[in-house]
Amino acid sequence: MSLSELVFPRRCAGCGRAGSVLCPQCRKELGNAPFRVSTTVPTHVPVFAMGMYAGAHRGVILEAKERLNLAVRPYVGAVLRSGLEFLIARGDIEHDTVLVPAPTRKRNARLRGGDPVAEYARSSGFAVCEALRLRSTSADQSELSAAQRRRNLAGAVELVASVPDLPIVVVDDVVTTGATLAASVERLLAAGAQVRAAIAIAAA
Ligand SMILES: [Zn+2]
Repeated sequence: MSLSELVFPRRCAGCGRAGSVLCPQCRKELGNAPFRVSTTVPTHVPVFAMGMYAGAHRGVILEAKERLNLAVRPYVGAVLRSGLEFLIARGDIEHDTVLVPAPTRKRNARLRGGDPVAEYARSSGFAVCEALRLRSTSADQSELSAAQRRRNLAGAVELVASVPDLPIVVVDDVVTTGATLAASVERLLAAGAQVRAAIAIAAA
């Protein structure tokens, strides 16, 4: 048990109930199979989500990202793993898939105790290539419309590492318009990467 857990008693990251990092009910909800999502912005590859941005899914994403709950991040990694294994079993993606986390701004990642999306990918047990970064000049996405997001992101995603010659799945925490995923997939495809799909923890 860490010092912070002694000071702040544990409560479920999904629903706030006292007791555990993640209660059995929220785990069950998070363990549901991924489903196909249609996005406003075309992403060139199928996009899947583990749930809607509500309930346990919304709870753990906010806890991990905004409230810096680092303890819940490996659990989200396990949720991601279960989703990827489901897609492998169904033949949607390949077993030797490499995950590329959707890009975050460096400053945001620092403020959030390390990029949560990259951490979900790492703790999923799949191979990870942190190949993408957002240029610091791109505006914050949260207040923009779909068209504005797309313009904002065109050219804002940088390739900062070489991508392995293996099937790629792009990972993000929340998919909204699909603009971030589209810009990421386009950047990877332009570099010759074999992008097969994208998966988000939740669809808003
Ligand atoms: Zn719960």
